[in-house]
Amino acid sequence: MSEHHADHRADEKAAGSARIPAVALRSGYDIPQFGYGVFKVDPGQTERLVSEALEVGYRHIDTAAVYGNEEGVGRAIAASGIPRDELFITTKLWNDRQGGDQPPAALQESLEKLQLAHVDLYLVHWPAPANDQYVNAWTHLVSLNEAGLARSIGVSNHLVEHLERIEAATGVLPAVNQIELHPAYQQREVVEWCAARDVHIEAWGPLGQGKYDLFGTPAIRDAAASHGKTPAQVVLRWHLERGNIVFPKTVNRDRMVENLQVFDFRLSDAERDAITALDPGDGSGRVGAHPSELN
Ligand code: NAD
Repeated sequence: MSEHHADHRADEKAAGSARIPAVALRSGYDIPQFGYGVFKVDPGQTERLVSEALEVGYRHIDTAAVYGNEEGVGRAIAASGIPRDELFITTKLWNDRQGGDQPPAALQESLEKLQLAHVDLYLVHWPAPANDQYVNAWTHLVSLNEAGLARSIGVSNHLVEHLERIEAATGVLPAVNQIELHPAYQQREVVEWCAARDVHIEAWGPLGQGKYDLFGTPAIRDAAASHGKTPAQVVLRWHLERGNIVFPKTVNRDRMVENLQVFDFRLSDAERDAITALDPGDGSGRVGAHPSELN
């Protein structure tokens, strides 16, 4: 084995044994605060990449029906031999299945693709308010949770107005709200609403999907230099210290390992504050769709 290769494996081992904190959800189940997301992961590559993620220590996988790669996730889980209770698998109900009695059938299809008897977390993917079916969808998720098919249930891309409506209709709050969140776009209003009600924030696009030049900003570059870490590791560490649940996506094994190596340093208050100050506050840092507009 070459020296480089040996170092590489040692790094992977360190990453694999990293202690990923567990966050307690209102369902009574814990979610690993750090995972691997598979948005835009080619269905043909998904089994291999999720297998690699499991090998290097990830135990929480975030997929969605609309990603078209649940089968690959399922094959990687089945091949891994990892006990089911050590894994945390999230999938999401797509917008065109929110109406009528469709949500239970949609979850069943996802479970078959994933080769699972239950998911750990099932999310309403977007409110898609023009269709006005998200309250119906949430009502079904409450039943699916009661039936044990989804151990925890939550929503994604829900703004305060959407959260208030589903709570008023069912009396049930989501365990999580998965929203676009990174230093340039922090969605403070919805984050505060959720924090006050023990609704945990899952930050999607935690690295700004690489579209926003986060890594070049002095606050992030300087913190990276002072801790001997990469800018990506600093941004992920910022999320963790703010309590966000994250599952950065990469198709590169070295970066899978790099992204996991964020449990051996702490940002100073000043570093954290400087990164928190990067949101221009006018919404211009948003890289994805707006929840009021996507259907
Ligand atoms: P992300 O912020 O994780 O960015 C991913 C990109 O960052 C990669 O394509 C790669 O180019 C780059 N990257 C990753 N690690 C890096 C590193 N160490 N150094 C440099 N660059 C690196 O964006 P994302 O994939 O959109 O978000 C993560 C996950 O969130 C998704 O995979 C998916 O599971 C979820 N998500 C959910 C929604 C939703 O609507 N609920 C939307 C988008 C994403």
